[in-house]
Amino acid sequence: MRAEEVAKIVKGKLIGNGKVNSIEFDSRNVKKGSLFVPLRGNRDGHQFIKDAFQNGASGTLSERTLPIPEGKFLIEVKNTFEAFKLLGKWKRGNFNGTTIAITGSVGKTTTKELLTHVFSKFFKTYRNVKSFNNILGLTYTLSNLPLDTELYIQELGTNRQGEIPELVEIVKPEISVVTAVEKAHTAGFKDISDIVKEKLSITEGAILSIVPIQFKEFSKSKETITFGREGDIKLLDVQLFPNKTEFLIESFGRRLQFFSPIPGLGVVNSTLIAVGLAEVFKVNIEKVSELIRTFTPPEMRLTVEQLNKVILIDDSYNANPKSMENAIKVLSLQELPKVAIIGEMLELGEESKKEHEKIGELLNHAKVETLIAYGKETESTFKVFKGKKSYFTSQEELIKFIKTFHFQGKAVLVKGSRGNRLEKIARIIRERY
Ligand code: ATP
Ligand code: MG
Repeated sequence: MRAEEVAKIVKGKLIGNGKVNSIEFDSRNVKKGSLFVPLRGNRDGHQFIKDAFQNGASGTLSERTLPIPEGKFLIEVKNTFEAFKLLGKWKRGNFNGTTIAITGSVGKTTTKELLTHVFSKFFKTYRNVKSFNNILGLTYTLSNLPLDTELYIQELGTNRQGEIPELVEIVKPEISVVTAVEKAHTAGFKDISDIVKEKLSITEGAILSIVPIQFKEFSKSKETITFGREGDIKLLDVQLFPNKTEFLIESFGRRLQFFSPIPGLGVVNSTLIAVGLAEVFKVNIEKVSELIRTFTPPEMRLTVEQLNKVILIDDSYNANPKSMENAIKVLSLQELPKVAIIGEMLELGEESKKEHEKIGELLNHAKVETLIAYGKETESTFKVFKGKKSYFTSQEELIKFIKTFHFQGKAVLVKGSRGNRLEKIARIIRERY
C-alpha cells in the first residue's frame, strides 16, 4: 500500500511519503517497510517511534506532529488505535476469500494451527500468530491480511460477555467454529449458560458453523455441522498412549482411522473439526488423515519430550480445568514414576478453590508420586494431594528447588496459567537433562 492510501483509510494528515508492506505495533517487530502504530498501553508507544524508524519502518501513525527522518512519512491521527481498527476493517471489506473464526474455552490455538497445517496444502492460507485473539490481536492480524489469501483462519477469545459479538462484527466469518465450552476465563461471567451463549454468538451471521453436538440448538448460522460422541462427525473410538493417539471417526456415515503423534484428547477434538471442514471444502479426507500424522502441537502445549532419562511434558502455555484434566491424563499414561509441577488455573473467580481441589484429586487418581505446587491458588491442590509434596508462592524459591530436585527416571508434567510463566521451569529441566 502507498502512504496516501493508508492516510485516506485512517482519515489522517500525511507528512512525507513512502510505501507500506507490513504493519507493526511493537517497535521490536518492525521490519524494513513497516508502518509503525504507536499505541497507548502501560507505556506510550509514541516513545518508540525512533526505534521503529531505526528498525526500518517506512512510516508511522502518530497522535502528534513530530520530526521524522528524511524519506520517511508520518500520518497524524486523533487516535492511533481507532486508526489501526479502520485499517483492519478496510482489509476485511476488501477481502474476497473465506474467513473461518474459531472460539471455545480450550483448543482455539491448537485447532487454528491444525487447520492451517491441513488446509494450507489445499488453499493459500493465512492465520493469526500465537493467541492473537482479542481486539488488538484481531486488528493486527486483519491489517496484515494479504488480499490474495484464499482461507483466513482467526481465533477469537473472550473474558467478558459481549466480547465475541464485537469481534465477529469486525471479522465477519463465513464459517464459525466452537471447539468446546468449559470452565475457563469464567471470572467475567455469571454462570456456564452465559458462557455458552457468549461462545455460540460466534455463529451469528455465519453461513455455516461447526459446533459440539450438545450446543446445536444455540447455533444461529444458516447451516450447522455437529461433532462429538454423536453428531455429523462422530468419534467412535479412541485409544490413548503415552506418546500417541489412535482414533476412529465416522463422518456423515463414512469411517476413517486416524493416528497422531500427540497424546491426549485435544488433537482428537481439533481433528473432528478438520474433518467437518474437509467435508465442506470437499477435499480428500484420506489426505486429511495423512496430514494429521505430521501435525505437531504449538510449543508449550502438551509437547512430550524424551530427555536423558526424563520424560518432560511441557504444557506450560496455559491452564484451565479441562486442559489440566487432559494433561494429567497424559501424565497418568506414562510408565515412569510421575512428578507434577502444577501452577494456578487463573480467572476462575468463585469456583477457583473447588476447581483447584479437584486437581488434587485427579493427581491422586493418576498415582502421581510427587506434587510441586506453585502459586497461591494451588494451596488447595496441595492440601488434597496425598503423595510427596512441596508448595511455593515465590518463583525464586521454586526455581531453587527445581535446580536440585532429582528428576532422573521420572515423567514430569509442567502446567499452569500464562501468569505463572512455568516455561522457565520447563527450560531449566531441559537444560539439566
Ligand atoms: P487461550 O485461551 O489461552 O488462547 P486456547 O483456547 O487457544 O487457549 P490451546 O492453546 O489450543 O487453547 O490449548 C490449551 C491447552 O488445552 C493445551 O494444553 C491443549 O493441549 C489442551 N487442549 C486443546 N484442546 C483440548 C480439548 N478439546 N480438550 C482438552 N484439552 C484440550
Ligand atoms: Mg489461544
